[in-house]
Amino acid sequence: MSGPERGAGAGTSALLTIDDLVVEYSGRRVLDGVTLSVREGEILGVIGETGSGKTTLARAVAGLAPVHSGRVTLGGTELTGLRGRALRSWRRTGALQYVFQDPLRALDPQHTVATIVGEGLAVAGVDPAGVAARVAAALARVGLDEGLAGRRPGQISGGQRQRVLLARALAVGPRLLLCDEPVSALDASSRNHVLRLLAGLRDSGVTLVVISHDLSSLAGIADRVAVLYGGRLVEHGPIGEVLTTPHHPYTALLAASAPSLRRERPIPAAALRGEGPGLPGGCSYAARCPFATESCAIVPSLSTVDDGRAVACHHAKTWRDERILTP
Ligand code: SF4
Repeated sequence: MSGPERGAGAGTSALLTIDDLVVEYSGRRVLDGVTLSVREGEILGVIGETGSGKTTLARAVAGLAPVHSGRVTLGGTELTGLRGRALRSWRRTGALQYVFQDPLRALDPQHTVATIVGEGLAVAGVDPAGVAARVAAALARVGLDEGLAGRRPGQISGGQRQRVLLARALAVGPRLLLCDEPVSALDASSRNHVLRLLAGLRDSGVTLVVISHDLSSLAGIADRVAVLYGGRLVEHGPIGEVLTTPHHPYTALLAASAPSLRRERPIPAAALRGEGPGLPGGCSYAARCPFATESCAIVPSLSTVDDGRAVACHHAKTWRDERILTP
């Protein structure tokens, strides 16, 4: 990606910390003990296939999923501890904004773009003149002509709708944006535009968590990446290093699906099949992993392997050699 050095504005202190987060729906655990942090001014990409728990993670951080246990802290405020009036009061600050996956469903078709972008400001008690000024500024920030302000969602393109969602989130001055599959419904031209926009927001100091199943999109903008499988965090670290030298077999499978990525070592063919003998195990990937052994019946904990990198795999250092490949 051209432009400023990626993550140049990122600080070393964590804006968001997620500590041993567990989410259950009707007793079914869909997020299992995820621990992560997001530094101020960076983009953390969260990747995984459908059912991996990536959207659940974002929704739990935003207070939209039932947290069974664990903690979420943003800028020193423990969000998982807020209830009632304290929670409503914190939400009115607009510090955390969730950008939903489907703009057409997320936007009220009866409202104009100006009303949609300004609704959070009105709730926060900003006067009408202030709302108008900040709506105009938010539209400009996402590259939308102010002339669109009077149109309704059905009268603008998909790419414009996605940018309206971003403008609505930005209008209230958030510290953290949670973007759920922000480009999955867009054509190639609109996708690139929105990705450049997200990178530009990061470079202007906004912190972002971007959920995606599309590794190529994340690779172009994210500073670090968290890989989820089966509701568990299986690897995280700087995105360039994770994708070029994956330490987890599932990350290797994902990285192989983005052929444009440069790799320092070839990925063993067995990892690319993404299927194994079906060993039942404690590791969330055991049923598909060609490198699973009896030891994988114990859930692997997330361990630091290099500076800034961590992986949950008993055979993180040896599976590439295929010496342990199960017959
Ligand atoms: S812990 Fe075992 S089953 Fe899980 S990814 Fe590593 S080798 Fe495969």
